[in-house]
Amino acid sequence: MVQDCIFCKIINKEIPAEVLYENDDVLVFKDIKPVSPIHLLIIPKKHIPTFFDLQPEDSRMMGEVQRAAATVARDMGLAQKGFRLVANCMEDSGQVIFHLHYHLLGGKRLPWLAG
Ligand code: AMP
Ligand code: ZN
Repeated sequence: MVQDCIFCKIINKEIPAEVLYENDDVLVFKDIKPVSPIHLLIIPKKHIPTFFDLQPEDSRMMGEVQRAAATVARDMGLAQKGFRLVANCMEDSGQVIFHLHYHLLGGKRLPWLAG
């Protein structure tokens, strides 16, 4: 738990979120400003600011993060058409919240990102 981290506060139920899946390592909830019909955030419960902060002992947990993405995508009916998992890392990507997270986007044919 890191003070003033909005995602840590969601994990600790200090601020509300539409949670779709939770286990010991991972929380999945709806993005508050969806950019596609399905837009979820998949986060580790451990506060890790960016990919550059990942430690060797985080590998199993990060595997669980990605497996949770597939589990929830299947539950949301995306098994046939698929989805996109994308993560922003620092300034050039436009990262706003420095608690590592994946965006799960789906529910329509997605255009590729501008480069
Ligand atoms: P980024 O850090 O740029 O990868 O994106 C942060 C994402 O968090 C944005 O898509 C926001 O809409 C989303 N977000 C910010 N605050 C909340 C919140 N309280 N509940 C759900 N999603 C949020
Ligand atoms: Zn945090």
